[in-house]
Amino acid sequence: MIGVLGVSGLAGFWLAWGPRYAQDAPIPPQPPAFGAQDSSFRAREVGTPITLFVNFDGVELGSCSPSNSKKDCHWYNNEPIAAFSGDLQAKVAILDAMRRHTDHYGVQITATRPDHGDYAMVVYGGTEEEFGALGSAPSGDCFDSRPNEIAFVHLDGEFASWIVAGSTTALHEAAHTWGLDHIDLESEIMFPAGDNSPTSFDDRCHRIVGDTDLTDGEPSCAEINTSSCGSAGQQNSHLVLSELFGPAYVDVSPPVLELTAPRDGEYFQGPASFDVVLEIRDDLHPQSYTMWTWYGDGPRPADSTTTLSPGFRVEALPIGTWSFHVAVADEAGHEAQLDFEIEVGVDPPPDPEPDGCRSGGAGPRSPMATILPVLLAWRRRRR
Ligand SMILES: [Zn+2]
Repeated sequence: MIGVLGVSGLAGFWLAWGPRYAQDAPIPPQPPAFGAQDSSFRAREVGTPITLFVNFDGVELGSCSPSNSKKDCHWYNNEPIAAFSGDLQAKVAILDAMRRHTDHYGVQITATRPDHGDYAMVVYGGTEEEFGALGSAPSGDCFDSRPNEIAFVHLDGEFASWIVAGSTTALHEAAHTWGLDHIDLESEIMFPAGDNSPTSFDDRCHRIVGDTDLTDGEPSCAEINTSSCGSAGQQNSHLVLSELFGPAYVDVSPPVLELTAPRDGEYFQGPASFDVVLEIRDDLHPQSYTMWTWYGDGPRPADSTTTLSPGFRVEALPIGTWSFHVAVADEAGHEAQLDFEIEVGVDPPPDPEPDGCRSGGAGPRSPMATILPVLLAWRRRRR
């Protein structure tokens, strides 16, 4: 596929420096307002932080205009889009790269749908071949007055491993919903063509272009360009993002950690083997977490594990009453701790659990699980 000229006249063309793909698929003109909208809608306050939700989970969008992330509706791309096929490691790598590109601005990037507040959504799914470009987005929203718009990244399939392009395309398309235009610097995120080469937001003024032939473009936001560049036809992406969202987003909230399985106080027949399945919520989830696990009354061990999905496996736990402790820290160093007890005895559990809860050894096993097989060596407290 690389460098093949003229697939549908859009994809895989050569520019002077090599194979590049159109960033944006052509989209139908935005119709007048219709469909589900948020009755409490207010334009965003300039200079305040924004949340960007990267939706890797697949979506079927209803019809509305303008697009609305909270209502899952748009005026195009109303066919179902499948979940991104990449694994958790790929998703976190994409999110990490996006966070590095935006670490000067008040942009909170998450792959968990927010349950309150305004958020732009990037649907990450579908292929370049299918859509004819790396992504698409509504544009023209000067000062991001419609904060809940929806954009698209089409890097599944043969480009599913394109982490660099995943991050820069998601930001390119999100930036269109924030009112940014294309500029004529090829190393910039807002250049109208791209591939898996690194780009970034530049802190200089560049000419606004309308297409991949780099002809002059019509500015979406003459006012912000004139104030930052002295010319309506130039854009300084760094200054625009700084003005829209204010300084760096700071993570001040600790994660929330919950025990999914086993239940606190659950009884097993010894020797007991089971997965400890945890649910974690954080304003920057998913990300890389530091995890400590220990038993009994002792202090937290110095040794920790780095994991994308906290949880671990216990093997051959002998008879006794065992108190477990798990502590998890997010990338900003905020911690949460969870404590629970497990009973292990000689007899089998009295009856099958009426609610269908599993006991002993069943259940999903996390691919990142830490195995703790040498519990016999631990100090334990018998009943
Ligand atoms: Zn674009």
